[in-house]
Amino acid sequence: MSHESLLSQTVLNLKESATLKMSQMARELKAKGHDVISLSIGEPDFDTPSFINDAAKQALDDGYTHYTPVPGLLELREAICTKLKRDNNLSFEPKNIVVSNGAKQTIYNLCQALLNPGDEVIIFTPYWVSYIEIVKLAGGVPICLNAGVERDYKVNPQDVAAAITNKTKFVLYSSPSNPTGSVYTKKELEALANVIAPHEHVHVVSDEIYEHIVFDGVHESIAQFENIRPRTIVVNGMSKGFAMTGWRLGYMAAPEVVAKACTKIQGQVTSGASAFGQKAASIALLADPKVTQDMMRTFLGRREYVLGQLREIEGLKLSIPEGAFYIFPDCSDFFGKSYNGQVINDSNDLAASILNNVHLALVAGAAFGAPNCLRISYAASQEQLAEACKRLKDYFSKMV
Ligand code: PMP
Ligand code: GLU
Repeated sequence: MSHESLLSQTVLNLKESATLKMSQMARELKAKGHDVISLSIGEPDFDTPSFINDAAKQALDDGYTHYTPVPGLLELREAICTKLKRDNNLSFEPKNIVVSNGAKQTIYNLCQALLNPGDEVIIFTPYWVSYIEIVKLAGGVPICLNAGVERDYKVNPQDVAAAITNKTKFVLYSSPSNPTGSVYTKKELEALANVIAPHEHVHVVSDEIYEHIVFDGVHESIAQFENIRPRTIVVNGMSKGFAMTGWRLGYMAAPEVVAKACTKIQGQVTSGASAFGQKAASIALLADPKVTQDMMRTFLGRREYVLGQLREIEGLKLSIPEGAFYIFPDCSDFFGKSYNGQVINDSNDLAASILNNVHLALVAGAAFGAPNCLRISYAASQEQLAEACKRLKDYFSKMV
């Protein structure tokens, strides 16, 4: 039987996650003995702070080994409400919160709960790879709004206004952004709220998973604006700020009707997230914010270093990422040039050539809807970053 007839059209149409694919390719090359540096995956290189691990161990001993309520332990949902009030001045109740197996599942639940076939989702582009595929899995139609390096990859509110139709269900973006590191300011968010608010059928899904990695000023949420607040769904999670990627814990704060719908979906698909993980997450969220601030400062030091190195490569167009742990140079000036006799036509060629020739794994911008760019994740040690920058400078210096 050919796989074409075995597999569903859904999975045949689905694109593999480019970030996960690239980090797997890097792992495989490493396993073959190559000296590969991977700056491909968006994952803090820190281990989870030990007090969080200790809380999980204690939770195991205390019997947190059973099913939990589908939307999460009440204790964790209360901790999330406390965090949202403390950090974002947003008032939610536990009935508004759904905890899932990672923010990825949160976004999946939301798309399944909100989209009918043909519904449109306005996605700020460059976007995080999985948005498009998750929207399509639910039958939704992604409407990509592009913003280039010259505007720090931030969309123009007028373009959002022009893209809204009677089929628009919600607007989806991350700030701080994966892949660009751009952070929308309070003023910029207010301008977005003002153009979206008059369209009462349009919601906002605000992915704030990089909230704790903001270098200048504080993180702002669009949910603070009263005109859009009742129609905003805040997505967040433990992976980035707390270095808990492998724990698989994300959450949403949403209108009750949306939270209930997502709970219904999750109840048929995965049930509640792991019990002891949830217990540890509630302790992490209520802890002294210093835990996340220390990691943020380390990321800032690395950003300064890598940006400084990249500025020495003539032809790269750089924005200054104000959050997350990514740099997203526009490399289009190099397209049409060659390396080792091979013509580089786009960012897919470029990422493949860099991996094969200097054993550095980056992700091609095409996967993020930005074919001129490359994503560099600087969540790696200083030694790795120094060697990676050396290889990159060497690579570009040999392009003719
Ligand atoms: N949103 C964004 C913007 C991301 O970069 C990621 C990837 N880490 C996620 C959501 C999903 O994170 P997780 O499933 O690990 O909570
Ligand atoms: N979100 C991270 C990234 O962009 C982790 C990998 C993934 O889930 O796609 O690299």
